[in-house]
Amino acid sequence: MDIKNISVFENRCLINGEWLTATTLLDVKNPVDDTVLTQVPVLDDVVIHRVIQDADRAQKAWKQVAPAERSQVLKQWFHLVMQHQEELATIMTLEQGKPLKEAKGEIAYAASYIEWFSEEAKRAYGDIIPAASSSEILVFKEAIGVCAAITPWNFPAAMITRKVAPALAVGCSIIVKPASETPLTALALAKLAVQAGVPAGVLNVVTGSSTKIGQILTASSVVKKLSFTGSTEVGAQLMAQCAPTIKKLSLELGGNAPVIVFNECDLEQAVQGVMDTKFRNAGQTCVCANRIYVQSGIYDEFIVRLKAKVEALKLGNGLEDGTDIGPLINRKAIQKVEEHIQDALSKGATLVCGQESNDSQWCQPTVVRDVTQEMLCATEETFGPFAPVFRFEHEAEVIEMANDTEFGLASYLFTQNLNQFLRVSRALEYGMVGVNTGLISNAAAPFGGVKSSGIGREGSRYGLDDYLEMKYVCVGNIN
Ligand code: NAP
Repeated sequence: MDIKNISVFENRCLINGEWLTATTLLDVKNPVDDTVLTQVPVLDDVVIHRVIQDADRAQKAWKQVAPAERSQVLKQWFHLVMQHQEELATIMTLEQGKPLKEAKGEIAYAASYIEWFSEEAKRAYGDIIPAASSSEILVFKEAIGVCAAITPWNFPAAMITRKVAPALAVGCSIIVKPASETPLTALALAKLAVQAGVPAGVLNVVTGSSTKIGQILTASSVVKKLSFTGSTEVGAQLMAQCAPTIKKLSLELGGNAPVIVFNECDLEQAVQGVMDTKFRNAGQTCVCANRIYVQSGIYDEFIVRLKAKVEALKLGNGLEDGTDIGPLINRKAIQKVEEHIQDALSKGATLVCGQESNDSQWCQPTVVRDVTQEMLCATEETFGPFAPVFRFEHEAEVIEMANDTEFGLASYLFTQNLNQFLRVSRALEYGMVGVNTGLISNAAAPFGGVKSSGIGREGSRYGLDDYLEMKYVCVGNIN
């Protein structure tokens, strides 16, 4: 399939309403076979500085547009994205590798944030606070200004709409730097945003050197906010770069999600929940089960059922019907999965299914049992289709093990015991807890982490706050 024939395909950057290219270009590859799909611009410093000024001018006009009108533009963008769901998903599968059915699911999920914030655009309420008798305290919520967004390759659409939709809803402008592996989904979304009526300069998409673009955006005093999704390492670096200009920050960073399966669970539900959270996007999600803790009373039966489901997964090209697991994003990702499997096996874990080593782009879904806290997979995010299963005896012990990590994004537990669900949900040091489900993402819910997993929340009514500043107005001497 020639990607250039897809109607929403675009390989130029969107800058102040114009589509620009550059003399230096960057290859975008299909992870299935590393063939070059197309090339995108490596923008130079002058253009990046200019786009900040353009976004600043555009924001001053956009914030004056009535919220109901901004809402209509976002609603129109939502409809266009859904009308082009199949084409957008095809672009995503070609550049990212995930199965087409998952890519379609991600487009619908990404669109749901646009729809959600098109509605929230009308609800950036302020406050009137009771004060001393002769004064009034008013709180206005105002758009923060020019925002920057830097996004990863694992969700090439949703990680963008989660940031762009709330920013546009409240009257901010935004400059998006998508991951270099997956810029085409971002550019296609931007093409539809222009068709929907987003004015020139309000949404800009830039590609090129992440270090250089990151440095210019973070150093600029015109850029008032950075929203970053990606690794904790890069997030910390960007946070330091934002310090001199005291920017508002949203950071959605790495995870190391525990799944706790108690004796009192519905076993089939728990096994399916683990499949859902572990193997979606070939395990390349930040909310992906990284450590699976199963209580001893059901341990052996859990392994038998998990093995049967994992062995039924079909590896393949994401564009082929029936594919459950696509290629990993690159060779480095495969090496990390292999390292975790080898480390676990060398320290006493037992292979249940999958493979001990792999020399292709494809990573066989792998389950190992009798895993312990001393193994690498207990402390590091694997980001691949590897399911390590730990055994535990008591609730207090598993809570301690689950919390024994620098990360605090998603966690999961499976139990039919009401008291246990409440006790353990409270005890888990995570931003999100899935109870009897492996699927927790939803535009209506506050998505985000604690500890080294980040700052801020995306989606839900709280998602608007990350793009707003409060202004307190004191009215005194009222007669
Ligand atoms: P990454 O290496 O941190 O890259 C993410 C983005 O940052 C890319 O656009 C990348 O650009 C850019 N970048 C890299 N170095 C930079 C620098 N020095 N300055 C400015 N930008 C820089 O992460 P990744 O490997 O793409 O994504 C996987 C990670 O994201 C995992 O840890 C995962 O858990 C996390 N994640 C978190 C969430 C969440 O919501 N918490 C969601 C999804 C993923 P280039 O591509 O051009 O290098």
